[in-house]
Amino acid sequence: MLSEWPARERALYPVPGYHEALIRIIEPRGRQRLSPATIATSAITAKDLIHPNDLICLARVPIPFSKKSRRNVVQASVNGREASASMRVGLRPSSDWHKRNFLTSVLIPSLFTKRSGKGGLPLFPKVKRGEICITWIGHASFLLQTKDVNVLIDPNWSMWLKVIKRLKKPGFDLFHLPEIDFVLVTHAHFDHLDRRTLRKIAADQPIVVPIGVGNLVQDLGFNIVHELAHYQRVELGPLCVSLTPCHHWGARMLHDSHRGFGGFVIEVEGRSIFHCGDSAYFEGFAEIGKRFKIEVALLPIGAYDPPSGREVHMNPEQAVRAFRELRAKTLVPMHYGSFRLGYEPLDEPPARLLVCAREHGLEKKVLVMTEGTPVVL
Ligand SMILES: [Zn+2]
Ligand SMILES: [Zn+2]
Repeated sequence: MLSEWPARERALYPVPGYHEALIRIIEPRGRQRLSPATIATSAITAKDLIHPNDLICLARVPIPFSKKSRRNVVQASVNGREASASMRVGLRPSSDWHKRNFLTSVLIPSLFTKRSGKGGLPLFPKVKRGEICITWIGHASFLLQTKDVNVLIDPNWSMWLKVIKRLKKPGFDLFHLPEIDFVLVTHAHFDHLDRRTLRKIAADQPIVVPIGVGNLVQDLGFNIVHELAHYQRVELGPLCVSLTPCHHWGARMLHDSHRGFGGFVIEVEGRSIFHCGDSAYFEGFAEIGKRFKIEVALLPIGAYDPPSGREVHMNPEQAVRAFRELRAKTLVPMHYGSFRLGYEPLDEPPARLLVCAREHGLEKKVLVMTEGTPVVL
């Protein structure tokens, strides 16, 4: 320690102003351990000298004016992360978007529409080994149950999305939830990432989000935030959760376009469920179908006539095409019925879906769920 230093330098230790010296020494050298010899032969003046052990230990002290701690946000590193071309949609509105008025034709009428749905106590069945129980909460929110774990995807119990009124109550009340082991959030849009709901659910369990979304959930009470890039996966107890690409965008506001977005494939006990998140139709569905043996596909079918006119969500016919390309066995439609995010009437998406499925001879593969009613598969 101190005795390893030449007598001349030992006499100078510690020196006043060593914090400033530390910054000068560490920063240009990329925070590497410096040997006394290196320091002695470098251009650093004797006045700046401090012991290398102190350098290391001081280098780990957080900066005094640190922003929110992100210690519990981790990015998966080794498991199949791939550089992929951006799947972000063009965000320019269609040329005739201003010819219709979303405020007067959707938002204001919604205010005078009575909220439907009963809520009430759900009857969760006892799930056996190898079975999966799916409960649609409403919109894109699902509860998945296996014998051992309960998982929530995109949970949202809010009655409002800013100025957009929820027109159908969630399938059951939040306090009727069983103990939740893991939470997955597909992207940062308000209808999928609801901080108020997440704060109530958080009980020191892990949460999984796309890369760049962790700081929106890390302060809510989750013990660890896993940030995934496309085709990265993380093991959560018996589950293997992979983030899949989609054709959408991730900014919650305007300035935060760095946020990732995607869907999830959840594999457990030889079964697999795909929650698409939000997506326009894109060719990537075939690729997802090649990489995973998907059994149940939860696909969005609503908000295809948005006020901006942008193509950011699939319509029911495109969802059927995606389902065929995914080569999944069961199609569960979602992302309709709760919030009017587009001009289309709330009940139009499932009706169109069933017509299209019938035309393709797929009606037996479509499972239209009722909010709050669990289905065991
Ligand atoms: Zn959405
Ligand atoms: Zn979205």
